[in-house]
Amino acid sequence: MLSNIISDTDKYYMNTFGSRTPVCFEKGDGMKLYDTEGNEYTDFFAGIAVTSLGHAHPGFTEGIKQQAEKLLHTSSLYYVENQAELAKRIVLNSCADKVFLSNSGAEANEGAIKLAKIYFYKKGIDKSEIITLVSSFHGRTLTTVAATGQEKYQKPYRPLTPGFIHVPANDFVALENAVTDKTAAIMLEFIQGEGGVHPLDAEYVKKVRKLCDEKGILLIDDEVQTGIGRTGKMFAYENFGVEPDIFTSAKALGNGIPIGAVCAKEFVAEAFEPGDHGSTFGGNPFAAKAGCLVLDIMKKESLVENAAKMGEYFKARLEELKKDCDAIKDIRGMGLIIGVEIQNAGEIVKKLFENKYLAGTAGANVLRILPPLIVTKEDIDKFIELLGNILKERNV
Ligand SMILES: *Cc1c(COP(=O)(O)O)cnc(C)c1O
Repeated sequence: MLSNIISDTDKYYMNTFGSRTPVCFEKGDGMKLYDTEGNEYTDFFAGIAVTSLGHAHPGFTEGIKQQAEKLLHTSSLYYVENQAELAKRIVLNSCADKVFLSNSGAEANEGAIKLAKIYFYKKGIDKSEIITLVSSFHGRTLTTVAATGQEKYQKPYRPLTPGFIHVPANDFVALENAVTDKTAAIMLEFIQGEGGVHPLDAEYVKKVRKLCDEKGILLIDDEVQTGIGRTGKMFAYENFGVEPDIFTSAKALGNGIPIGAVCAKEFVAEAFEPGDHGSTFGGNPFAAKAGCLVLDIMKKESLVENAAKMGEYFKARLEELKKDCDAIKDIRGMGLIIGVEIQNAGEIVKKLFENKYLAGTAGANVLRILPPLIVTKEDIDKFIELLGNILKERNV
């Protein structure tokens, strides 16, 4: 019963998620989720951009079931076929030449930061500073908290890993001024997710790439939220016509099985030599199988293309709403990572939930919409109708 689940959670689980929505889901089917009381919900948040294939996808479920029956884990002391297969698939679908598999987004970013540092270390060059952006989000480990340009995540944990400098997004002069002869890397989300769904300006990104080339600085692209089809391209950087030297992936890569990836061009990747980095679980037969299935199913079902098409449709429908609703200040995003700027977005998420729809926020004033990539026009139409009604009610 839900009340027991809530009281056990309160009693036994560390209380880092203060305002949980009072519901517990026990099964899913595509866009749908079902709670312990038998209610049906439509999911426009995908567990924070994770379950891109939808819930209980039959092909995915069958694939991981078969793998679970055969083998879960061996460690990377031995060769792992699925690890090689997943690395190959990522390389064939991106600008990377080599991949290292981790277990989460933060851990992938840790790997990316370590790789940038060791790249210069091996060359005997004293460069260890990393510039990131204000309002960025790179994870919850001590080093990725240091990378994250949000004071609220850092304060209790000082001293943090040193060497991180934060500059405002889209301010190229500020970035240029922050570069020193110690700068090893510039780390960006091409679309800031948690920070409010802010795509960077295309011109800014191009200038950053050029600056990196001129000064011998590595460009790290955090694709943990935007990667694996979410923006209507396999990786968000493709929308900007710029290739990073290192990028990371996680959230949607396993469709809910924990996994992450550090991906890099050969010239950087070769800095990692035996003993320089590692992981017990990373790239194990089970998690890597999940990653392979995700990429295969996305291709077979043209989900990246669907994300592009449905993203355009979604945005057009939101723009229609905006015409009649002064409360909507801005509509941002690419593909199916969409931010609607509106006062007190949490209240709208609550109203959506009362009507059995799931969405989220990014800060106080952005409604964040991240549906599974299988979403259809009919699903979007229903969501828009509901959101329109909620906004109308709020206006009176
Ligand atoms: C979610 C997220 C992370 C952290 O990933 P975890 O799997 O929670 O560690 C890092 N960077 C970005 C851009 C994210 O959205």
